[in-house]
Amino acid sequence: MREQLSFLIELQKVETQQSRVNIKKKELPNRILKLEEALAAFNVRVEEDRKKLDELERKHREDEEKLKRGNEGLKKTKERLLEVKTNREYQAILKEIETIERKNSEIEDEIISLLEEIDGIKVVLKTKEKELETHKQQYEQGKKKIEEEMSSLDADLLACEQRIHDYRMRINDDLLKRYETIKAVNNGLAVVSVWKEVCDGCHMNIQPQLYNELQKFSALLSCPNCNRIIYWYNKGENG
Ligand SMILES: [Zn+2]
Repeated sequence: MREQLSFLIELQKVETQQSRVNIKKKELPNRILKLEEALAAFNVRVEEDRKKLDELERKHREDEEKLKRGNEGLKKTKERLLEVKTNREYQAILKEIETIERKNSEIEDEIISLLEEIDGIKVVLKTKEKELETHKQQYEQGKKKIEEEMSSLDADLLACEQRIHDYRMRINDDLLKRYETIKAVNNGLAVVSVWKEVCDGCHMNIQPQLYNELQKFSALLSCPNCNRIIYWYNKGENG
């Protein structure tokens, strides 16, 4: 009985470990997903700046084109001055020239401020692109680490399965059935230790008489409260 109990205890330990490893393994893809999301979010911010720069550069090209046309218009209007016959006509063209010059000057001002804005955003973008590179590297490293962890967990699981199989072969069928039945109604925990008369499964006290019995390892006993298979385990504290 002592040997069967020790197999049961080991089986419970390995199966508990197995479910812990499985839980951990399930979390890993989420962690990769979170890394991906963080990288994508940063990428979006860089992309926004790139779009802004494109927009400013497009506007700059348009303004340069507008200014070119404005200067051509100015030249043509000035040429018309040479052909005027009346003073009234002359005054009208001067006014026209003045309007064109004012407009051109406005475009020039806009170009200057656009160029300043473009320079500013280029500096910001350069820094952000460098940061993005760092983020990408961190992402790759993080992902690699998680994938390594995943393989290591797979190896752990394989080892668990092997050990579970071995213990199950050694435990007699009736006992195994009892173990499974208790496990099914107790969240996977069927075998628990008792120390200082306290059941580690339900944390309730057991009778001193049962506790004494337990320390003899002579029979397979159950906790009267939670019905789990119990065994005496010296936790090494005083008492
Ligand atoms: Zn209990």
